[in-house]
Amino acid sequence: MGGMSLEELYQEILLDHFKNPRCVGCPNSCNITSSLLNPLCGDTIDLGICFDGGSLKEIGFTGHGCSISQASASMMSSLCKGKPLSEVKFLISSFVGMIKGEKKPEDVPELADALSLAGVRNFPARMKCALLAWEALGNCVSKAEMQDHRGMQKIRVNPAS
Ligand code: ZN
Repeated sequence: MGGMSLEELYQEILLDHFKNPRCVGCPNSCNITSSLLNPLCGDTIDLGICFDGGSLKEIGFTGHGCSISQASASMMSSLCKGKPLSEVKFLISSFVGMIKGEKKPEDVPELADALSLAGVRNFPARMKCALLAWEALGNCVSKAEMQDHRGMQKIRVNPAS
């Protein structure tokens, strides 16, 4: 035999992100935030991001709760950091689709370490744990897009005034 099974590998990745979370703490430049609570499990995520030039320049989180929720936040943050907005939205939809069982893990290889949470799709009670950080990121992306939209409107309105 030798080597690890896929399940063991996934368990190892999850524990690594839980024990050594990436992107912890919110840099001062993070001007868009979202705080979410999962009342089912008591998980919390406070997420902050900063977009610059259409890319996710900074991302950081603080939180507490179960290993799935915190590892998921770490995987999400390290995966999405530096990516353009369109790719961030694509990654969110890939992850949500995988957890809800709408997409097969083998169809979303872009999720990298976050693939280790694929097993959660078989445990409905834990889905919210895995999704919490990604929902917070979705909220932040919506806020960023609204700010952009308002900026565009200002540009359009100003010449006439
Ligand atoms: Zn949880």
